[in-house]
Amino acid sequence: MRTGLPKAPLQGAILAELLKGESCPSCGQPHDFCFAGAGPLCMDAWYAFTCPETGEVAFLQPLTGAATVPQPPPGTVTLTAADAP
Ligand SMILES: [Zn+2]
Repeated sequence: MRTGLPKAPLQGAILAELLKGESCPSCGQPHDFCFAGAGPLCMDAWYAFTCPETGEVAFLQPLTGAATVPQPPPGTVTLTAADAP
């Protein structure tokens, strides 16, 4: 029987890369972005996301190092790996 949220074991825990305050090329505001794909964010790679302000798909390259967090915090914008726009 499960009660409440299960405690994530270390093995198999969701890991995400958190990029805080990266400026958004779509709306110009900073957002907190999260990438939960395999592997760390690559500074040379492009990532796609949907801007929560404009609702448009935009692309960014991480300019700063990302922090690894156990899971994406609420309210972050999800990044997905993308080809160069
Ligand atoms: Zn935006």
